[in-house]
Amino acid sequence: MKSIETKSKVLLRHHLKALRLPTVSAECEKVAAQCAADNVDHLGYLLSLLELELLDREKRSAERRMKAARFPTIKTLDTFDFVARPSVNKMLITELTRCEYIDKRENVLLIGNPGTGKSHLATALAAQACAKGYRVRFFRTTELVTTLIEARDERTLLRLKGQLAKLDLLVLDELGYVPASKVGAELLFDVISTAYERTSLIVTSNLPFESWTEVLGSERLTGATLDRLTHRCRIIETKGESYRLQDAKSRTARVTAPRGATGSNGTATMPVAGAQTTK
Ligand code: ADP
Ligand code: MG
Repeated sequence: MKSIETKSKVLLRHHLKALRLPTVSAECEKVAAQCAADNVDHLGYLLSLLELELLDREKRSAERRMKAARFPTIKTLDTFDFVARPSVNKMLITELTRCEYIDKRENVLLIGNPGTGKSHLATALAAQACAKGYRVRFFRTTELVTTLIEARDERTLLRLKGQLAKLDLLVLDELGYVPASKVGAELLFDVISTAYERTSLIVTSNLPFESWTEVLGSERLTGATLDRLTHRCRIIETKGESYRLQDAKSRTARVTAPRGATGSNGTATMPVAGAQTTK
C-alpha cells in the first residue's frame, strides 16, 4: 500500500514538473491536509491549489519584468515626499500609477532641476507598470545613445530596435545630458519617432524645451522630437531646488533652532557641511 502511494507521489511530481506547476507541486500535500481538516471537497481543493499557482506565477513574472527593466535603483511612490515638492500633483501621479496612459500610448515628461525627484518619479511609475504586467525598459539617455551607436557599428541595430519595439513603456532618463553628436541625435530621434503612438515614453530632463536644440543639435530635429513627445503627453514640472539640499537645510534648521547656532554638537553641524558642498 505504502509503495503504491509513493509511486503516485513520484508520478504526480513528474507530471506537475512537465506541466510547469511548481507551486502545485510544492503545496499539494499541505493543502490536501488542510482541505481534509476543513471538509473542503475535491473541486475546492483543486481551486485552492490553482489559485496559489496563479498568484506565484504573477509574482514570478513581475520579478522577471522588474529585472528586465534594469532600473539603476529601485524607488517607490511611498518614499516620495509630495509635501516637499508642491509643484508635483499627487492626484496626477496617482492616476498615472493606474497605467491608463500606457494603454493610450501617451507620454510623460518630467522637467525640473537636478535633484528634484524626476528619476525617482520616473522609476516609481515604471515599476508600477512592471507590477501591472507591462514590459518596461529604463535607460539613461546617454546609455541608450551609446548602445544605439554600438549596435549600428556592429550591424545589430535592427535587432535592438526590434527589442525596443516590444516594450510597452520606455524610460529615457536625463535627456539633457546627451552629447550633441549628429549620429547619436538622429538615432535617438529614430527611437522616439518609432515609439510614437506605439510605445509610451517617460522622459526626464533638466532642460526647458527652449534648450533642447542644444541637445539634439538641430532645430528641425528638436521640433520634430518635441512634436512627437508632447503630442498627447502629461508634463510634470518638479519645480524648486534639489531635494537633498532642501532636506539638509530643513534638518539643519530643526537641529540648530532649539539650541541656537553654537554648533557644539558634532551631528548638528553635519548637514550644514553637506548643504554647503551641494551648493
Ligand atoms: P533628479 O532625477 O531630478 O535629478 P532624483 O530623482 O535622482 O533627482 O532625486 C535625487 C535624490 O533625492 C534621490 O535619492 C531621490 O530619491 C531623492 N528625492 C528627490 N525628491 C524627493 C522627494 N520629493 N521625496 C523623497 N525623496 C526625493
Ligand atoms: Mg535624474
